[in-house]
Amino acid sequence: MPEGDSLHRAARKLQVLVGERVAVETPHPRAAAEGVAERLDGRRLVGVEAMGKNLLLRFEGGLVLRSHLRMSGRWQVRERGKAAHGTPWLVLAGREREAVLWNGPVLELSHGALNRARLGPDILADPPDLAAIVVNLRREARGRELGDALLDQRIVGGIGNVWKAESLWRARISPWLALGEATEEELERVLREAARLMRSSVDGKRTERAVYRKAGRPCPRCGETIRSRGQGDDNRTAYWCPGCQRAASG
Ligand SMILES: [Zn+2]
Repeated sequence: MPEGDSLHRAARKLQVLVGERVAVETPHPRAAAEGVAERLDGRRLVGVEAMGKNLLLRFEGGLVLRSHLRMSGRWQVRERGKAAHGTPWLVLAGREREAVLWNGPVLELSHGALNRARLGPDILADPPDLAAIVVNLRREARGRELGDALLDQRIVGGIGNVWKAESLWRARISPWLALGEATEEELERVLREAARLMRSSVDGKRTERAVYRKAGRPCPRCGETIRSRGQGDDNRTAYWCPGCQRAASG
């Protein structure tokens, strides 16, 4: 699943088209039904940014195209007119290069400012507003588990399941710790780790995973067996070490 860091990489790739007028095509019939090409064709692309799990493409005239990649969507930048197999959703062609969107994304065209209030601060903002995220976490029910809250895009934008697991392990805090039991310092610590890990992933550095998809193997820090279990309403799998990640007070 694309996480915030892969969206930031896509946003970075797409910068080569910013400032250009783009020819817009929607070869895939489902994308064509949205009427995106008709409204955007020939407009200048004025900005591309990742926000939470969305990629926002801003066009002149105040039009904003939101692309949510879900499980399988992918942006590619290639030489213009290069033949390729398959039917992309969207092609934005500049003078020399074109951006191509592949596979079942959410495309939504809106006019004017997007409703940012629905999304928490982006963990990959430079610098991320950690204090505001902590305030959001403190507004949640005291019994809510920290690992569950970190995936809630209303609280903090951009953290997915991989970086949730890895940043909690690095911060030595269990995903099962109740928010009401977490100290201010602990909340900041896990957010700092998430921001640091994801930023280095955006910069193309690979980080060895300590716990994600490592259930049954020994923890690289303390040797205890790593565990996994579904967490939250979406039952997404949490990975943690019961030996060195704090789960409760005392
Ligand atoms: Zn451990």
